[in-house]
Amino acid sequence: MSSHQVDMIIIGGGINGMAIAGEAARLGLHIVLIEQNDIASGTSSKSTQLIHGGLRYLQQYDFSLVRKALREREVLLKMAPHLIKPMEFIIPDVPSKTPRWLKRVGLFAYDYLSGYHSLPKAHILHLNNHFLKSDIHSGLVYSDAVTQDSRLVVEWALLAKQYGARILNYQAIQSLKETDTGWCVELEQASYEAPVIVNATGPWVSQSHQRYFSDFDIPKMRLVKGSHLVLKKELPDDKAYFLECEDGRIIFLTPYEPGYSLLGTTELTYEGGLDKLKMTETEISYLLECVNRYVQVPFSRADIAASFAGLRPLLDDQVHDAHHLSRDYRLLLQESKKGHTLLTVLGGKLTTHRRLALDALILLGKNRKNWPRIKEEPILLPGGEAFDEKPYGFVPEAVLKRYRGSYGTLCRAWLEGKRTLLDLGEHFGAGLYQAEVDYLLAQEWVLRAEDLLWRRTRLGLNLDEVAVEKLEKYINTVIPAFAGMTKTLL
Ligand SMILES: Cc1cc2nc3c(=O)[nH]c(=O)nc-3n(C[C@H](O)[C@H](O)[C@H](O)COP(=O)(O)OP(=O)(O)OC[C@H]3O[C@@H](n4cnc5c(N)ncnc54)[C@H](O)[C@@H]3O)c2cc1C
Repeated sequence: MSSHQVDMIIIGGGINGMAIAGEAARLGLHIVLIEQNDIASGTSSKSTQLIHGGLRYLQQYDFSLVRKALREREVLLKMAPHLIKPMEFIIPDVPSKTPRWLKRVGLFAYDYLSGYHSLPKAHILHLNNHFLKSDIHSGLVYSDAVTQDSRLVVEWALLAKQYGARILNYQAIQSLKETDTGWCVELEQASYEAPVIVNATGPWVSQSHQRYFSDFDIPKMRLVKGSHLVLKKELPDDKAYFLECEDGRIIFLTPYEPGYSLLGTTELTYEGGLDKLKMTETEISYLLECVNRYVQVPFSRADIAASFAGLRPLLDDQVHDAHHLSRDYRLLLQESKKGHTLLTVLGGKLTTHRRLALDALILLGKNRKNWPRIKEEPILLPGGEAFDEKPYGFVPEAVLKRYRGSYGTLCRAWLEGKRTLLDLGEHFGAGLYQAEVDYLLAQEWVLRAEDLLWRRTRLGLNLDEVAVEKLEKYINTVIPAFAGMTKTLL
């Protein structure tokens, strides 16, 4: 077994752990990140995909979170222009618990809190799109942004790797203990020691804290389950909808992959097991009933292509219900008697991950000599550069569009030098060619077909069983070569 001394060990490969890895590696720190499953397999692939200030948090007077998230929205739009896209959200004008004037004031405040921003300001829209019920003639429109959550995590992982971090997925921690010289984590084939350890395990934070750091206290967390439906229907005009349900809760209907839309989310306090979470029938009925209050042609169970459920880890103030608990994060810095540091990440939104990572590094540097100067200026995420597509005219437009929106310039890695589709190798179906699969196996930590089908791409929606089987077979034959490479990297 090889052993390595690093500056920081991060446990958890969701958006928060990965952004800390990326920002820390950028500072020249030696980082290892350990993920028990696949990258982004936790909450960071189960979100509503919004990069937003959170219009509804204004109802809870959480102005500081809304302002912080809106500023991050603006920064992230520039950091990953290929992956984070502006989106207009329509609030249909129907009688609701929130009076019309209050909605307008809310949108005015939302624009105001974002300060200078590049997105269009809120306005009124006359509707005639045959999608909403015919008695809905107008709506308020505001702007936010949408992303592909798991790809955002992967791009932070690529950034971290670019700066020398080791990103290890599917790694079970065999033991984690504190020695006189630091925190020591043993994996199956290697061990790592560092003076600083970060617990960024999202919904697992209380569980992993109990297992590895029970000498320290942490605040009580509440897990809130949220589920989404992927519907087989494309939305008109590439616009999203902000819909108030009968109970006053807001859900979103947003464009998803071509031919699909995403509907969610539910919000239920959760106390069950953390793995293999599923959406329940009651949640499905709730979302369908809510959306069907607005649309001309009702959605039914036959329109459901897929569903997914995730858990929000929220700081439990013991007072509010799930809907009213703050979505902001807290960073807890604790020193052991031996002088080693534990940083625990509590809560946090997808939108605020970069700010969380910078705040974590600032906090860690407070009492530390020789800590590098924090780099607040944002960096372009891998793939975010301007993309000259001219040399790739041989790729079908729908496939190129997917490459552009998911990978940006990263797809040059497998397109460079190719002249025809035949050069991309075997076609597995739905525009997935061997060249892309090989790139994902070699560069993006894919070890199983599901990593590729649901977290590096969303092609799981479009590939049939036969194609998936073919892909699994291919991965299983190729993976031993990559597994060998991983071993030497460890
Ligand atoms: C339904 C829903 C919708 C949401 N929508 C939005 C949205 O639209 N916009 C937004 O900004 N935010 C949204 N959020 C919030 C956002 O998704 C989460 O805050 C964010 O993804 C949390 O990231 P994380 O890195 O903290 O946790 P996770 O992504 O869960 O990552 C934690 C990782 O730690 C790993 N782990 C756990 N234990 C161990 C261990 N012992 N060893 C190694 N690894 C371990 C897990 O496998 C997991 O991959 C939503 C959340 C939910 C639930």
